[in-house]
Amino acid sequence: MGLSTALQIDADTKNYQILDSVKYASAYAYIYAIRNNILNSGKVYYKNEFPWRVRIIKNDSVLNAFCTPGGYIYVFTGILKFLESEDQLAGVLGHEMGHADYRHSTRQMTKMYGIQVLLDLVAGDRALVKDISKSLIGLTFSRNHEKEADDASVRFLCPTPYNSAGGAGFFEKLIKEKPTKTPVFLSTHPDPGNRIESYYEKKAALGCRNETDFKEAYQKMLTSLP
Ligand SMILES: [Zn+2]
Repeated sequence: MGLSTALQIDADTKNYQILDSVKYASAYAYIYAIRNNILNSGKVYYKNEFPWRVRIIKNDSVLNAFCTPGGYIYVFTGILKFLESEDQLAGVLGHEMGHADYRHSTRQMTKMYGIQVLLDLVAGDRALVKDISKSLIGLTFSRNHEKEADDASVRFLCPTPYNSAGGAGFFEKLIKEKPTKTPVFLSTHPDPGNRIESYYEKKAALGCRNETDFKEAYQKMLTSLP
């Protein structure tokens, strides 16, 4: 299901302009290195089962990232340029990878469509695949799943050199800058309440001590984006 959603996004060049992985090899290498730090934390359950493939979508007005079931990660240039340091991006990736690792979308879809529809899908109903892929992209998570993904982000980052509450940086900057349009991130990832606080609480509870933000490396990566 995740793969067919990913294939559909990749083919929809009108809505998703994916950055060429050769032309923008350095930006891709940078994000893959962050992904590898998360995977090598030893905390990702489906580390070896999912591909955890990354695609960058060129659209500066979209503050969002998402991950399909089965671990196909998409990051918009809008959120890359909004963030300021590597620990913040690691936090956002950790959150998205957390949703996939907990199989949140799959569970939500089962609730929405029922298990029989998903079984028909696996059996190869093509019209259904298209329909379901569409609703997967705009799927809204529950507040409970949001909290789980935030906590997963801290758990994944804790053994890495990053500030493990990096994911809070996105929300701190939102509060500071008050963008006029609601970021897409918030429409598909509802606020579970006291999100910033909860990142720092989880960090303290797990005793995570590392604080590196790799801000300079991040700013350098941004200059390679179109
Ligand atoms: Zn989320």
